[in-house]
Amino acid sequence: MSFEKLGVMKPLLGAINDLGYKKPTIIQTRAIPLVLGKSDIFATAQTGTGKTAAFGLPMIQRLRKNEKDSSRPIRGMILSPTRELSMQIFEDMQNFAKYMDVKIALLVGGKDLESQQKILKEGVDIVIATPGRMLEHAESGVSLKGVEIFVLDEADRMLDMGFVKEIRKIHPILPKKHQSLLFSATYSEKVRKLSKLLLRSPAFIETAKKNTTVDTINQKVYLVDKERKAELLAYIIGSRNFRQVLVFTRTKASADELVIELKKDGLKCGIIHGDKTQANRSKTLMQFKEEKIKVLVATDIASRGLDIEHLPYVINYELPSIPEDYVHRVGRTGRAGRNGEAISLIDIYEKYDIKEIEKLIGIKIPQESVKGFEPDPTIRRKDVQDIKLKSEHAKTKKKFTKAKESKKVTAKSLKKAKNSESQRTGKKRRTTKRDGN
Ligand code: AMP
Repeated sequence: MSFEKLGVMKPLLGAINDLGYKKPTIIQTRAIPLVLGKSDIFATAQTGTGKTAAFGLPMIQRLRKNEKDSSRPIRGMILSPTRELSMQIFEDMQNFAKYMDVKIALLVGGKDLESQQKILKEGVDIVIATPGRMLEHAESGVSLKGVEIFVLDEADRMLDMGFVKEIRKIHPILPKKHQSLLFSATYSEKVRKLSKLLLRSPAFIETAKKNTTVDTINQKVYLVDKERKAELLAYIIGSRNFRQVLVFTRTKASADELVIELKKDGLKCGIIHGDKTQANRSKTLMQFKEEKIKVLVATDIASRGLDIEHLPYVINYELPSIPEDYVHRVGRTGRAGRNGEAISLIDIYEKYDIKEIEKLIGIKIPQESVKGFEPDPTIRRKDVQDIKLKSEHAKTKKKFTKAKESKKVTAKSLKKAKNSESQRTGKKRRTTKRDGN
């Protein structure tokens, strides 16, 4: 299949040729004709599969300026969860539209609202925005009445980040008749519900098994004691001479601490997390892309928008608290069919988390230890009981949700589920006479 056969017009073909896209990816092959045909779409696509062009190319084609039309209302709106991802989409869209008369604007927080308003007044065809900033503009009078195509990218992440309120406020402002495209890296009940609200008779595109990691990524787990993780990380980077590596921590505090440790080892590091200003994040990302810094330490919030060409390594210094985030993190490597390696450094407290991740992605990740960094076998976890309870609680919750979904929850079954959980957790109900007999 070629982009031309999918119906992509000449100026766009020229632009993607400049970008080196030779053949459409699977998601592009499936989505482009549907978007051109004005269909709503619900697509679950893994990160790095080329989904920006899957919606971006046909969107630009459909919304190119009509010569007869003198006004320039916003006709396309792309919402994405983070500033970094929005910036990445903006860059891609500008590259796609470079031979066409399509005006594109980036509306993200952390940037001056007034200068964005000025750009909008001059007339813009497509906006790429974070939900909060888009709502601010809409509330300050920017009209969305002309929107023909609405894209919600990384819908699962939007929900995780609590943007559902903003989406629910923006959606009714859009004209009744418009095309909606929903993209999500992972599939969940919450995403399904959101799709019901936003989409009308959508075409479903599933380019990969739910929640799988790309198979060009070589995944590994190194077992190590918590207090030796920074040392091991520096050793791996140094001994294998990593040129560029993205390292994830679970919290901002551990990202800060890790950077201090790595700098002591003489490694050039940058850091991206929610407490950093937008200007600082952009500068760090640029330095990393230009390989002026070797190690970029980031938290999950920052992970979504990072598209670095040929990023060869991702290291999970700590596993994410939500298993789905593992898929997003490792998806930063192995993009567009290239090989990548994802290494997770796990201590004794993360053994439960890795099992949850393996369950989600449906593969067992090989575990080993690095010579000289083997975990101390005398170290035992102090919270074995807590972990058992966590696992039991998750099982009960799952059972209950399943029953609820199939609408079979009765007062009796609810009581039974609660009882069995309290028995497991040791908080046995006091036996009443009737219970006892
Ligand atoms: P995305 O999933 O949109 O973030 O794209 C992931 C990466 O794949 C980006 O670096 C794109 O520039 C690249 N890409 C997208 N489509 C193609 C294609 N058809 N051929 C080669 N690279 C592509």
